[in-house]
Amino acid sequence: IFRDVEEASPIEVFHLMKIFSEDDYPTKVNLTVGAYRTDEGKPYYIPVVKKAEKLVLESTTNHEYLPIFGLESFTKAASQLLLGDIVQRQEEGSIFGVQSLSGSGALRVGAEFLAKHLKCTTFYYSLPTWENHHLIFMNSGFNDAKTYRYWNEEKRSLDCDGFFEDLSNAPENSVIILHGCAHNPTGLDPTKDQWKQIAEIMKERKLIPFFDNAYQGFASGDVEKDAWSVRYFLSQGFEFLCSQSFAKNYGLYNERAGNLTFVLNSTDNVKAVKSQVTMIVRGMYSNPPNHGARTVSTILNNPELKEEWLDTLKIMTGRIKDMRKALRENLEQLGTIGKWNHITDQTGMFSYTGLSANHVEYLRKKYHIYMLRSGRINICGLTNNNINYVAEAITDALVT
Ligand code: PLP
Repeated sequence: IFRDVEEASPIEVFHLMKIFSEDDYPTKVNLTVGAYRTDEGKPYYIPVVKKAEKLVLESTTNHEYLPIFGLESFTKAASQLLLGDIVQRQEEGSIFGVQSLSGSGALRVGAEFLAKHLKCTTFYYSLPTWENHHLIFMNSGFNDAKTYRYWNEEKRSLDCDGFFEDLSNAPENSVIILHGCAHNPTGLDPTKDQWKQIAEIMKERKLIPFFDNAYQGFASGDVEKDAWSVRYFLSQGFEFLCSQSFAKNYGLYNERAGNLTFVLNSTDNVKAVKSQVTMIVRGMYSNPPNHGARTVSTILNNPELKEEWLDTLKIMTGRIKDMRKALRENLEQLGTIGKWNHITDQTGMFSYTGLSANHVEYLRKKYHIYMLRSGRINICGLTNNNINYVAEAITDALVT
């Protein structure tokens, strides 16, 4: 029965991680992974997360199912982290969260809801975007995938005019995927003024925002600042969806802790909306997992632990900023061809370097430095130990 199954192409980031792990070159460098790394190049087990996990284990008395919508103490605190003081709206019911299988699961449930119950067929994602957006939305029942311009290759900056024009031409009821902050893969976010223009166009064109918030705290180091875009849309009276991932900002990648927030402008139909979300979750995975969500909830609902987590975010983003600065300085000192200000202009974990697929291949073959074909690097893969090596290799690749 399996005879006619065609092989799908490999997923680039996982494929590269595999060949990296098989490479025994002593100075190999991995700039592909979408995860934080310490200056020793190691995964980071955040101390306050470890502390909270201990509390979770000590207070766990059974492994009964969670409600279909997940742990309420988690979804409430997660939506508040995202949207600020929304307690009243949560109490009246016009804003609610659904625990999800990390950010991907939130996008998947949200997209299926939009396709099934709002009859949406067209979605727009930034060019470029995280490569999974397309797959998730197509699997959810959308059939018309469109892009909006975002990255200006020549200037290595945001293509504002292209972005606004594409939004202005989008058909009514299109779903627009917006990265709340720390855009993956470019590391470029709109300014506040640009967000205001985006909101204005979207309101006029009757477009539906779907915020993807996978990096709150990873752009500026401040969770409040990083939530500005989403909160602005809230203040402008939009109805929208927002996915949240706690993979990066808690280092809980494999625990699949996420939240999908629904923002409605009326409580009239909340019951019906919730009932349909229930049906989607029930038919997809039935119940969410406990451990990651309970860990995040323990931290968000305890002022001392939360403070410690916020401090840790500052340390992590501080290291990313230091590495951006060091890479730029190294490249400029070496007289590397091109301008490198974009490395420090960008924020978050990722940088779109502007290196071509040929450069990327050259760097992998000659120097065993791994990055995505698009030239995207994870800044966290840089350390004080390898930064000179990487800068010299890039300099060489650009003259070859
Ligand atoms: N959205 C973006 C832009 C991402 O980069 C990622 C992860 O890399 C996700 C969502 C979802 O990640 P996860 O499902 O691990 O939370």
